[in-house]
Amino acid sequence: MADKTLPKTDVVIIGGGWTGLTTAYELAHEGRKCVILERGDHRHDATSFGAPEEHDELKYGLRYTHMMNVRENTLTFRNSRGDRALPMRRLGSFLPGEGLGGAGIHWNGQLWRPLPSDLEMRSHYDNRYGSDFIPDDLSVQDWGVTYDELEPHLDFFERICGAAGTAGNLDGEQREGGNIFEGPRSNEYPNPAMKQPVSSTLFGRAAQEMDLHPFPFPSANVTKAYENPYGAQLHPCTYCGFCERFGCGYFAKADPIICVYDRIKEHENFEIRFKSTVLRVEKSEDGKTATGVTYVDADGREIFQPADIVCMNAYALWNVHLMLVSGLGTPYDPETRTGTVGRNYSYQTISAVDAFLEKDIVTNPFMGAGALGMVVDDYNGDNFDHSDLGFVGGGYIACKQYHGRPISYQPVPDGTPSWGAEWKRAVRENYLHHADFVIHGSSMSTPENFLDLDPTWTDQHGRPLLRMTFNFPENDRKMAKYVTERAVEIAENMDHVTSVSATNLAAEGEDYSVVPYQTTHNVGGAVIGTDPSTSVVNRYGQMWDHHNVFVFGACLFPQNLGYNPTGPLMGLAYWTLEHLKNDYLENPRPLMDA
Ligand SMILES: Cc1cc2nc3c(=O)[nH]c(=O)nc-3n(C[C@H](O)[C@H](O)[C@H](O)COP(=O)(O)OP(=O)(O)OC[C@H]3O[C@@H](n4cnc5c(N)ncnc54)[C@H](O)[C@@H]3O)c2cc1C
Ligand code: SF4
Repeated sequence: MADKTLPKTDVVIIGGGWTGLTTAYELAHEGRKCVILERGDHRHDATSFGAPEEHDELKYGLRYTHMMNVRENTLTFRNSRGDRALPMRRLGSFLPGEGLGGAGIHWNGQLWRPLPSDLEMRSHYDNRYGSDFIPDDLSVQDWGVTYDELEPHLDFFERICGAAGTAGNLDGEQREGGNIFEGPRSNEYPNPAMKQPVSSTLFGRAAQEMDLHPFPFPSANVTKAYENPYGAQLHPCTYCGFCERFGCGYFAKADPIICVYDRIKEHENFEIRFKSTVLRVEKSEDGKTATGVTYVDADGREIFQPADIVCMNAYALWNVHLMLVSGLGTPYDPETRTGTVGRNYSYQTISAVDAFLEKDIVTNPFMGAGALGMVVDDYNGDNFDHSDLGFVGGGYIACKQYHGRPISYQPVPDGTPSWGAEWKRAVRENYLHHADFVIHGSSMSTPENFLDLDPTWTDQHGRPLLRMTFNFPENDRKMAKYVTERAVEIAENMDHVTSVSATNLAAEGEDYSVVPYQTTHNVGGAVIGTDPSTSVVNRYGQMWDHHNVFVFGACLFPQNLGYNPTGPLMGLAYWTLEHLKNDYLENPRPLMDA
């Protein structure tokens, strides 16, 4: 029983990141009273992000000041069902956000679209390679929504961000200089691509010589003065190199505070309550709808906030946790392989290649940005022939220049000791002469990778912690090896390269580790689809079991793409919001295709 029950609101939104603030913006302008409950605090808004303060690598880059505090909220982890899961006591492999803007404050701004075939993966591979091509141990499935349906929403989010890039496919016409593999765009990027540094220019030349198709990173680091469709003003990026893990002090990285919150915070239908942790979603007596949410406020009181509509925008992992502790949907059971909540959790494969350059080639790595670099997409998705490869999926290869920050940017060739005078000498000699690659790959879902409630460990509110069971499937290891080898070939073909080394975090024979940072691209667990036995929400993002609960974020992905998730998940968010606004609000019910 809650300590207090508040008056009903039209919409309650759990979480104040990209998806939560956007949901509030769109529904408040539809005349609905929106309350966001955010478990973190108010943070700097666009007018007070100070560049010098943010340029504190120790505070933000290493001590994770913008990220979730694992002493207050965490999850348990194990590699397989036979292991005992233990709580994560330090952030490592992923860095979830907390507070106004969520992880959208400290993201890089790499702004991708899915490939059309990514969204219809099962049927695409079946059609191209035959129905027995996808390995049996993978639970790959279609999303239930197509690229053509999402395109206007992907396009709108790019305009919200003032995205910078070069279109590779404009209305079906392929264009050199952009990503020729992408689906048709209805519009060019709103802003021109970023200027390229020496390292990625050399990479682009080498890739072109090899008949690959290099193009600049699609970027939410804005390149010109720009006003977005909500009226937010963005400034050109200064290439300061403090994007990933930091807020931007120059109004140049599109983030949810600058692009959305500042344009909605004074609206009469908008309210956000900080330090408000939602404990559970409450259900009606017949169990068919949600009645609102119970949360703990800053004074530790339990408050019931009734609402007509509940929007789950708490980030992929915490949406699934809330569903499990609230009894929303049916939990996935790996023994019987039935149930859906927690099913199809997957991650991302990451490798790195370091290319060391002749000493008269100076790269100035301190001039960087979160989405600066050149990319080839020739080995991503199904952009290449998989017939004889024995795996599905792929990844992009990028030569990037994110930053040259003093504590964490220390490129040294293989064989250098990791400390001492020799290491210092190697850092000094190589800092200015290094090209840095990332290979960012897909990860397929399997019946053995899933999220559920931990039977042992509880949180400060007495709720079971979320338990993650994950290891890279064989498919992903083969894929990561193959694409990493292609990246090494490009590095070796670059002019002025003296040595090349590679690190593959999904290498054969090595368990996935939660310790080294990889990406905050946790996906699945509450997936979208057209079949209630294999998805938690229908193709509009609405829960099958509770029609007034709408779900946002990467928990919707049935398996992970080779790309970063925010472009695709925001495309899905605007798709859901379009149907919520135009179809659901006037006539609340389970949405179905006409
Ligand atoms: C270092 C880093 C770099 C990244 N770079 C990129 C990139 O370049 N490109 C890209 O596409 N993606 C990137 N991402 C991922 C991107 O940040 C996320 O995809 C995006 O922020 C997800 O938005 P969201 O609204 O779903 O969740 P979030 O931004 O995580 O927001 C969720 C909010 O919900 C709140 N919350 C959680 N549980 C509760 C609860 N019980 N009650 C109340 N509030 C709650 C949290 O405090 C949080 O503020 C990056 C992420 C990180 C960490
Ligand atoms: S690199 Fe550009 S976008 Fe990133 S923090 Fe610096 S000015 Fe902002």
